[in-house]
Amino acid sequence: MDLTLTLQHLSGITVPEAQKLTKLGLRTIADLLYYFPKEHLAFKRTRIADSKTGDCVTIAGKIINHTIFNCRTKPELTLQKWMVCDQTGRIVCTRFYNHNYYQSQQWRSHQVELYKQGAVVLVTGKVKQDSYGKTISHPTVKVVSFEDAKASTTSIVPVYRLTKGLTNELVRHCIRAALDCVGFIEDPLPQGLRKRFGLIAIQKAIAHIHFPPDSNTLESARHRLVFDEFFYLQLRLLQHRYTLQQQQGYSLSSTGKLLSRFYKNLPFTLTKAQQRVIDEILSDMSKPTPMNRLVQGDVGAGKTVIAAVAILAAIQSGYQTALMAPTEVLASQHYRKLSEWFEPLGLSVTLLTGSTTAKSRQEIAKGLNLGLLPLLIGTHALIQNTVSFKKLGLVAIDEQHRFGVQQRLKLQQKGLSPHILTMTATPIPRTLALTLHGDLDISLLDELPPGRQPIQTQLFTSSTRHKAYEKIRQQIQLGYQAYIILPLVEESQKLDLKAAIEEHRYLSENVFPNVNIGLLHGRMSSAEKETEIANFIAHKTQILVSTTVVEVGVDVPNATIMLIEHAERFGLSQLHQLRGRVGRSTAQSYCLLVSDSKSSNSRERLKVMETSQDGFFLAEIDLRLRGPGQVLGTQQAGLPELVKADLINDQAILEQARKAAQLVIAKDPTLQRWPKLSQELFRRQPVNKLDAEAPLN
Ligand code: ADP
Ligand code: MG
Repeated sequence: MDLTLTLQHLSGITVPEAQKLTKLGLRTIADLLYYFPKEHLAFKRTRIADSKTGDCVTIAGKIINHTIFNCRTKPELTLQKWMVCDQTGRIVCTRFYNHNYYQSQQWRSHQVELYKQGAVVLVTGKVKQDSYGKTISHPTVKVVSFEDAKASTTSIVPVYRLTKGLTNELVRHCIRAALDCVGFIEDPLPQGLRKRFGLIAIQKAIAHIHFPPDSNTLESARHRLVFDEFFYLQLRLLQHRYTLQQQQGYSLSSTGKLLSRFYKNLPFTLTKAQQRVIDEILSDMSKPTPMNRLVQGDVGAGKTVIAAVAILAAIQSGYQTALMAPTEVLASQHYRKLSEWFEPLGLSVTLLTGSTTAKSRQEIAKGLNLGLLPLLIGTHALIQNTVSFKKLGLVAIDEQHRFGVQQRLKLQQKGLSPHILTMTATPIPRTLALTLHGDLDISLLDELPPGRQPIQTQLFTSSTRHKAYEKIRQQIQLGYQAYIILPLVEESQKLDLKAAIEEHRYLSENVFPNVNIGLLHGRMSSAEKETEIANFIAHKTQILVSTTVVEVGVDVPNATIMLIEHAERFGLSQLHQLRGRVGRSTAQSYCLLVSDSKSSNSRERLKVMETSQDGFFLAEIDLRLRGPGQVLGTQQAGLPELVKADLINDQAILEQARKAAQLVIAKDPTLQRWPKLSQELFRRQPVNKLDAEAPLN
């Protein structure tokens, strides 16, 4: 039996039924088999007298009466009605049909034949109370033997995602028909693996995910299917990793004059964690295969200096390098910082952003082509076609989660297998990390530079906001600076802009009349943004009112206090990122969260901010409370679609699947030994959606 045949080939499914299913994208037998329920309802065996409104129940009883008739007011509707009783009472069950098939004599006589008076039935459905007494609408009514009726069980019924014109009954009926063919599925997973990880056969798993005899069976079916989802994903990631490792890269020297002079000039000593991560990177880069490493470090942990070391290592071996950042603000900041560090070493640093003039662009292009420019820093402007290097040896990407997969790839393809260093300050829980970055080596930067104090975080409301302003005033008097953050709602950027401008005016005139206040928002030109940031850095402004443009990376150590308006609109990870703009020196810093939200959920979330400074912990909570999308920011590109698997609760299965995939790849990364695995991997290939790119502020 070919499971790729269309549904018309199944005897139990009529042509109109098959047509309806196409609305759900279900065309083949395999489509139906793999159309897993979104949930299950457990129906408990109950006596009629004990059943209550709203209960999902299964009742065993006898048919007293069964009728089929046309609705009086809408004759095209067919009504089917059963009266069922047990020792404790009686209940009415009704079903409606809206198709002339159900008007046919053939169907009706078949039903009459099936539901004879006195027949023993199991009725399953949700109990309602109406003027006729207890009723169940659209139940399943199954004629059974007396013995079956006595066996007391809980029945579990699948519930499917539907669309207009489809009912669960119809989908269930068609899936039952398709399940006749489930035996024709071949299990791609080698038996050894199945045994080792205690997995049931795929045919059983599919049959039972739809119609589980009991909850244990459902659990093992789900386990197998979740395992599969993770397993093929890991297989793909590890295969990709293997392919990368087969490439010829540049083996670079990890010592040299440039590096030693750089270390000598550095105004601080590296933390142990920084040293460790640098060692990992330099060791990668000294190998003849390209590095593919992600550095995960909490905000303020000091990732920039790590990138600087990697860049110098490449330059001193005669290669060019590129550093890409998601916003112009951040790119310019890197440009300033690295210029400060590199110019004493006699190295020129070049900045390329959306606002670079056409003339300088041409010059930059020329210099890059000739190999004269060792380091190009910029935004996504770096991936334009006009940018080409003579000898690109290292690509560094800061805040990498803000870029789409394709954007990252494009930069990488500007060279011939360059080393790749990606960095992120959004600490992500292990399940997410494995799912997204299973093909990378990961370094954890889990230590802050010495002397950093926890940022004191406190909740305020509109009515206590003046106290928050007072705190800001105190910090300014001490010579420090402040951020005031306004949330940006994407749907109404114009409104927000207006709000930001008004807030700025209000604060300048009424709250802090003697203070210079800057304003930074996403609608400003880059030059304007640059000026605002430069003014803040130079301490010409004491307060910077800003939309979330400052979220990533901005580093002004003299800023010690941040007030965040409408804090409830942000995820914890994002709040943590924002908060990371302060606490960048040894001075005590403060984060003031203003929120009038009454929802207990959001108050609770904000309370966590008061007590925790740990980005990983906050990300875990975000994952639990708001789902993966929120942890990663608005639109993380590349998060695979998981049907059954759950990144929060299925970590143990994910670890198993990863282990299994490692075993397979270690034996034969090409999968030639297991053609069925290879086919299944291909079948599950993610549909190539247009790679969503993260919004750039
Ligand atoms: P992030 O990891 O958020 O990108 P940065 O690289 O911007 O952090 O570093 C934050 C601040 O800490 C910068 O001002 C940087 O110069 C400083 N810094 C980095 N490493 C150290 C260190 N080992 N000791 C002291 N200060 C450091
Ligand atoms: Mg940074």
